[in-house]
Amino acid sequence: MTVLEARHLAIRIGEKQILSELTLAVPTGKITAILGPNGSGKSTLLKALSRVLKPQAGTVYFDGRDLKAISSKDLARRLAVLPQAPQSPPDLTVRDLVEHGRFPHRSWWKGPAAADRTIVTWALEQTGMLSMAERLVSTLSGGERQRAWIAMALAQQPQVLLLDEPTTYLDICHQLEIMQLVAKLNQENGITVVMVLHDINQAAQVADYIAVMRDGGIFAAGTPGQVVTQSMLREVFRVEADVLPAENGKPVFLVTGLANQKMKTT
Ligand code: ADP
Ligand code: MG
Repeated sequence: MTVLEARHLAIRIGEKQILSELTLAVPTGKITAILGPNGSGKSTLLKALSRVLKPQAGTVYFDGRDLKAISSKDLARRLAVLPQAPQSPPDLTVRDLVEHGRFPHRSWWKGPAAADRTIVTWALEQTGMLSMAERLVSTLSGGERQRAWIAMALAQQPQVLLLDEPTTYLDICHQLEIMQLVAKLNQENGITVVMVLHDINQAAQVADYIAVMRDGGIFAAGTPGQVVTQSMLREVFRVEADVLPAENGKPVFLVTGLANQKMKTT
C-alpha cells in the first residue's frame, strides 16, 4: 500500500533540471528516509511531494488522487511539512506556533474551538513541550525548537508527515530524542513519515524503507539491508566502507577511505 507516490517526476527551476524521471512509492504507515549527497535533490523532492513546487512532467498521487486535484485546505489536513531550518516570527510563543497547525481545520468565521485547544494541548504533550508552551520560540534550544515545530505539524493531525533534515545542528543525544519522537508518532498515531536524513547509519536504524537519491533521481530504494551496501556507498557517496550488521540486524557502516583513490599498498 502506498499513500504518496511520485511517477516520472521532473522538476526544472530556471534552466536547471533538478529532478528527472523520478518514481517513488512511499509505503503507508511506515518511516521512509531519503538519503543522498548534498545537492542531489532531496529538499526539491519533498517540495514536489507537498506541492510547494509544481512538476513540469509526471504526477504525484496522494491516496491515489492526483495532488493537483486536491484543495489546499484538504491537503493541509492530510499532509504536514517541516522544512529545512523553518523560521517563525520572533514574538511567537510555542502555543501560538502550535495553534497555527489547527488553521486548516477551522472555519474561516470561527476562532479556535474547544476541540482545537484540546488537540493543541495533546500535540504539546506528545512532544514534551507542554511545560514550555508559554515560552517564546526564539528562546528555545535547538532540540526544543525542533520539537515545537513537530508539535505544530502534529496539531494538523496529518496522515503523512514530511521532515527535511530534522536533526541537523543537534547534538547526538538530541538527535536521538527527535528520532524517538518521530518513531513514536509513527507507531502510536499511525502517521506515515518521510524524512530527509543526513546520517546514513541513523536512517538505517530508524527507517523501514530508504530511498537513495543521486543526481535528481532515485538510485535505489528498499529496506535498510537492501540499500545500505558497499556498492551504494561507493557509487553514491564516493566512499569505501565496511558494512556490518548491528546487534539488531540493521546495517552499520564505517568509512575506510575515499572511493576512486588508489589505496596505498605496503
Ligand atoms: P539537497 O536537499 O539534496 O541538498 P536540493 O533539492 O536543495 O538538494 O537542490 C538540488 C539542486 O537544485 C542543487 O544543485 C541546488 O543548487 C538546485 N536548486 C535548488 N533550489 C533551487 C532554486 N530555487 N533555484 C536554482 N537551483 C536550485
Ligand atoms: Mg536539502
